[in-house]
Amino acid sequence: MIANRLQQIRDRIAEAALSVGRTSDSVRLVAVSKTMPAERVRDAIQAGVTILGENYIQEAREKFNALYDLGASWHFIGHLQSNKAKYAVRIFDLIHSVDSLKLATVINKEAAKRDKIQEILIQVNLSGEATKSGLSADGVAPLLDAIGGLTHIRIRGLMTMPPFFDDPDRARPFFEELSALRDRLGRQPTANADLTELSMGMTGDFEVAIAAGATLVRIGTAIFGERHYP
Ligand SMILES: *Cc1c(COP(=O)(O)O)cnc(C)c1O
Repeated sequence: MIANRLQQIRDRIAEAALSVGRTSDSVRLVAVSKTMPAERVRDAIQAGVTILGENYIQEAREKFNALYDLGASWHFIGHLQSNKAKYAVRIFDLIHSVDSLKLATVINKEAAKRDKIQEILIQVNLSGEATKSGLSADGVAPLLDAIGGLTHIRIRGLMTMPPFFDDPDRARPFFEELSALRDRLGRQPTANADLTELSMGMTGDFEVAIAAGATLVRIGTAIFGERHYP
């Protein structure tokens, strides 16, 4: 079941990439497993998923501990509170949702304690919706400058989550805007940044995101089915 869905998603990712002249391996799949029990996540890993995306620290810790031996990579995609940063640094290879210097500073401190260089993305809120995390496009360059002095953080790129639309084409301008913002900021590596990653696109709109340059797509429902919140 999961294996079939996964194969369909991989085919669609490859097709979307090839149709805009990109290689299929230029897009990585983050399987978003929030609310899914560890057993389902284990099935997904055994079916070939290599990156899991989780939104809640406590839930992620339980699954990480249960599935640690399988050697998957875990990414944090939810809103991170500073007081949970130490767990995030312990578990996640990439934190997609950094949107303040305060949070970056705490992550840096926890990473230093563990002798780790924590990879992060800057989350950008392009729609201005109050319900979404992320900083404004104008805030990104100043934050990059400010984080530039933090020695245990590496900024790998940008992340965004457009408003929900029934028609994925309506999300396209947001994806193109994130891509353009990254191009304006430049891909030239600095001491602790190289903006190579664009995390954008979910079940309903990942093909449009890939056309706009996504390198990480975060897909939950199409792999695991509908989520049932307790
Ligand atoms: C839940 C979630 C996803 C996955 O959404 P689907 O529509 O189920 O693919 C992607 N990104 C973030 C930040 C999420 O919270």
